Order: sequence, then structure tokens, then C-alpha cells
Amino acid sequence: MTALLRVEDLTAGYGGAVAVDGLSLALEAGEAVALLGANGAGKSTLLKAVLGLVPASRGRIWIGGEEATGLAVERRVRLGLGYVPEGRRVFPGMSVRDNLEVASPLGRAGRAADLDAVFALFPALEGKAAERAWRLSGGQQQMLAVGRALMGRPRLLLLDEPSLGLSPKLAGEVFAAVKAIAGTGTAVLVAEQSAARALGAARRAVLLRLGRVVHDGPADRLPDDALRDAFLGG
Ligand code: ATP
Repeated sequence: MTALLRVEDLTAGYGGAVAVDGLSLALEAGEAVALLGANGAGKSTLLKAVLGLVPASRGRIWIGGEEATGLAVERRVRLGLGYVPEGRRVFPGMSVRDNLEVASPLGRAGRAADLDAVFALFPALEGKAAERAWRLSGGQQQMLAVGRALMGRPRLLLLDEPSLGLSPKLAGEVFAAVKAIAGTGTAVLVAEQSAARALGAARRAVLLRLGRVVHDGPADRLPDDALRDAFLGG
């Protein structure tokens, strides 16, 4: 099977500062992978490098089997990438429905079907369809941000800290959605500082420390010392 994401020996950072250091990783269709690590481990930088917001100084990236190294962000999106940045950016003055509809590349019928699918995944949004996005709670805005990304029909979805600032209940709902999204065949890479929450939704966990993978394996069999090393530095 072709990996939906393949990253090989990727190095990326800011000026001279390396944030992702010779990292390799692959994701198959339908896989939800938790990308875990302490503050500054390089999780956000990895997602941004896959999207093309941060350039790779070394290594290669394939999306859906096509080489994406060096491609512009729009070209990567066309290869099937969806991205939800940290801080759930939605259009605050637009209605929930409009936020979703503008993110769809499809005609009326396809758009309506995808809108229904997002409302089925996040029933809380359906009742708020006509509300302006700024009126939603933080958790609902996060759902809307994920819903917007789904309207682009990604084959690979990158989520940056989706549970940040959410109550345990709402974070649980967001992770239940992550699991459901992976169940439809989309690959999901979700960066999280809160390991416990992410591990419930993911089949596999990748631990980062100082921009490197220190562990990659089944989420339900994560050795304590690997977690400790990733979060506390061994
Ligand atoms: P967090 O959970 O805090 O987002 P993270 O694991 O996502 O952590 P990154 O944000 O990828 O980590 O940061 C990795 C390293 O890159 C850190 O040392 C950080 O200080 C640095 N860094 C991140 N963004 C920038 C930037 N825009 N300019 C310079 N350095 C940056």
C-alpha cells in the first residue's frame, strides 16, 4: 500500500536553528497517529514542514505517493493535505455554515453532502449553523476548524494541538471525531502535549524529543520510559 505521508530524513527549522532533525515517518490510509512530545520538541514544525510553511533544509516528503518536497502549500493541499493550525482559526464574523461552505472545492450537491457529513460528525455544530463563528465556545470552534479542513476532502489531515484549552469533555469529543475520521480512511497526524487524551484516539504514537523520533509504536503499548524520556528528557 502506498503511504499517504512519507517523510525521509527531514531537517527543518528557523534560520540556523534546527527544530526537526533528520526525521523519518510514514502514515498509511486510515491511521490515526499521535505525535507527542514536550513543549518545543518540534511537533508544530514537523506539521508546518509537511504543509510547506517551513522549508526543509534536508530530506524528502511524499504525499499520497507524490513527491512534495519543495512544492508550494497549495500544491500540497491539492495532493490531499488538510491542516488545522494551533489556535483554531475560523472566520469569526461568518456563520458556521459559511465557514464550512467556503472551504469546499465542490459544486452545490457535493458541498451539501460534505456539510451533512460534518454535521453528522459534530452534531453540536448543526444547531449553530446560522450563528456567527465567534459566538461558539472554544470547543465548538475547534470542531468547526476540523470541519473546515474536512470540507477540503483531505486524504491526510494534520491537527496541531486540537485539545489546547478545551475541557476534558470537549477534548474527548474532538478525539472521538479524530477516531471517526480515521475510520473513513483518512490518515490523521495529531500533535499533542497531552499524551493521555491523544493516546485514546490513536492507534500509533510517535514521540519526539529535540526534533527527533525517540519512539514509534502502538499507542496502547507505549513504554513508560519512552514517555518519560520524551517529556522529561530521560
Ligand atoms: P509546542 O507544543 O510549544 O508548539 P512543539 O513541539 O510544537 O511545541 P515547535 O513549535 O515545533 O515545538 O518548536 C520547535 C523549536 O523551534 C523550539 O525550539 C522553538 O523555540 C523553535 N521555534 C518554533 N517556532 C519558531 C519560529 N517561528 N522562529 C524561531 N524558532 C521557532
